[in-house]
Amino acid sequence: MAEEQRDPREVRGAGGGTRGVRAEEVDAWGELVDTARRTVTDGLVVGTSGNVSVRVGDTVLVTPSGVPYDRLAPGDVTGVDLEGRQVLGTLVPTSELPMHLAVYRSTDARAVVHTHAVHATAVSTLVPELPTIHYMTSALGGPVRVAPYATYGTDELAENMLHALADRSACLLQNHGTIAYGASLSQAFDRTAQLEWMCHLWLTARAVPGLTPHLLTEEQLAEVGERLRGYGQRA
Ligand code: 13P
Ligand code: ZN
Repeated sequence: MAEEQRDPREVRGAGGGTRGVRAEEVDAWGELVDTARRTVTDGLVVGTSGNVSVRVGDTVLVTPSGVPYDRLAPGDVTGVDLEGRQVLGTLVPTSELPMHLAVYRSTDARAVVHTHAVHATAVSTLVPELPTIHYMTSALGGPVRVAPYATYGTDELAENMLHALADRSACLLQNHGTIAYGASLSQAFDRTAQLEWMCHLWLTARAVPGLTPHLLTEEQLAEVGERLRGYGQRA
């Protein structure tokens, strides 16, 4: 890891055979580091937990394993191909490569964010699916499933995650955390934050003694799904 701010364009052949960094990868790395730092500052992870990736062509830039995000410099660009072979940098890629690569291989994702957000992780220990407490369920493709527990970093966890992600852009990982993907880092991050917020909401509502939260029906969620297509500003 470089402490000084080196120009990443100068990182040529680092790691014995890895290639030089392209201009668009320099920009994507900057955005990736900003996003990873935001997971910490927004309280979605503690320390070096969680990981972030972004796809540039057939290269996937990833956070290195166990490196505090505030120490990541432009010269620390870490990248793998879709088979997980390291093509950029010398730092060891995230241990959750199997999950990130499984998402890129089976969806049109351009970015993936994995966190240990506290309310989401709490919910993952309680139910097989997040109850439909809010209409933002529809923004994630439907009721958010919980992938059955498997050891972090394993192919088994990636497989469980893929099943839980079918027709969804996010899921919970039992006794572990969240994973969300999107067309950009900001979309993957926003989906993560919305998921954590909904989990917080459900835990808050269900904690009221003697009352049970009202949930939304499939029909109500389908109507929101349609409406959300026109949400926000005109293109
Ligand atoms: P890494 O530091 O290897 O990315 O691992 C963090 C994590 O959240 C594992 O599930
Ligand atoms: Zn994790």
